[in-house]
Amino acid sequence: MLNYEAALQVLANQNLPGWQKLITRFYDQLPPSVEVEALYQKWGGLHIDIYPDHPEVARLIDQLEQESRSLCERCGELAKEVQKNGGTHTLCDFHANL
Ligand SMILES: [Zn+2]
Repeated sequence: MLNYEAALQVLANQNLPGWQKLITRFYDQLPPSVEVEALYQKWGGLHIDIYPDHPEVARLIDQLEQESRSLCERCGELAKEVQKNGGTHTLCDFHANL
């Protein structure tokens, strides 16, 4: 299980610090009965696995995934989907061209 501190560490380790504000908002609304099992970037979007299933939290995760697709995963600026280093990423112009 990932608490908020551990979740931020995972974001840092995966080089996704631009999405920190999404994670902060998620944990602010997370009911105590729901645990976070994993979070990761997939096809350019933020994915969060929870246990047990919870329809309202699942809707919140969908919203955050949509939002993450327009926010740079590195810095949180406005971004778009980019193919880079053999993967799909969501990056601002600056980070796309690094
Ligand atoms: Zn950026």
